[in-house]
Amino acid sequence: MKTLIVATRNRHKLSEITTVLGEQYQYLTLADFPGAPEVAELRDTFEGNATLKAVELARWLAPSITELSFRVSGQTFIVAEDSGLEVDALGGAPGVYSARFAALDSGQTTNSPDAANNAKLLRLLIGVPMSKRTARFRCVIAVVSLAQAQAGQFDPVCFEGVCEGRIALEPRGTAGFGYDPLFIPAGFDQTFAQLGQAIKNQISHRANALAKLKSWLDEIPD
Ligand code: IMP
Repeated sequence: MKTLIVATRNRHKLSEITTVLGEQYQYLTLADFPGAPEVAELRDTFEGNATLKAVELARWLAPSITELSFRVSGQTFIVAEDSGLEVDALGGAPGVYSARFAALDSGQTTNSPDAANNAKLLRLLIGVPMSKRTARFRCVIAVVSLAQAQAGQFDPVCFEGVCEGRIALEPRGTAGFGYDPLFIPAGFDQTFAQLGQAIKNQISHRANALAKLKSWLDEIPD
């Protein structure tokens, strides 16, 4: 069995990742490594930030490989993701700033509450008709093999997933997180927050990227 060390503190993302990838892997998370460094998302692309998060955690974990070997089974991979929403009418914003969209107005670098981000998005789209409210969620997953990291190699492999859709006129639904109450995936009339987790896990940006990751992992012997 392979072990995946998932570099996120977002419990919603973690739950989507483990649900979509399934029980064939052993999972560890940042909760298992309380001393792991906080990594600031300094890059201006999803790939850049996902890479940064995977490589920083791999660098921190690599020296602990002997201790880790008591806790992991099979080959071990560090998995990090970065994701966000791109709205065409806003020139692709909020993009990599999705988590701190509202906070940007006050120059803060910390994440804003989902409700504040959603309210700002709706405010900026006042007067924009449904036909022009096209948007997409994008997710990039970066993976580093712990064995390679231990050998001093930190070249992640990246997988991208996209989910096209539109931004609703008002928030609807209670499932999920982030912009889910505002995002209507293509081919549906309801938001992700109304459609629920089971449908989201089949069609989302994260599900698409995870399917590619899973195919890649399955090619590697345990
Ligand atoms: P980060 O990847 O942790 O920097 O944060 C990504 C941000 O993008 C989240 O805080 C959400 O605001 C938004 N986001 C990413 N994926 C999703 C999703 O599946 N649903 C809703 N919002 C998302």
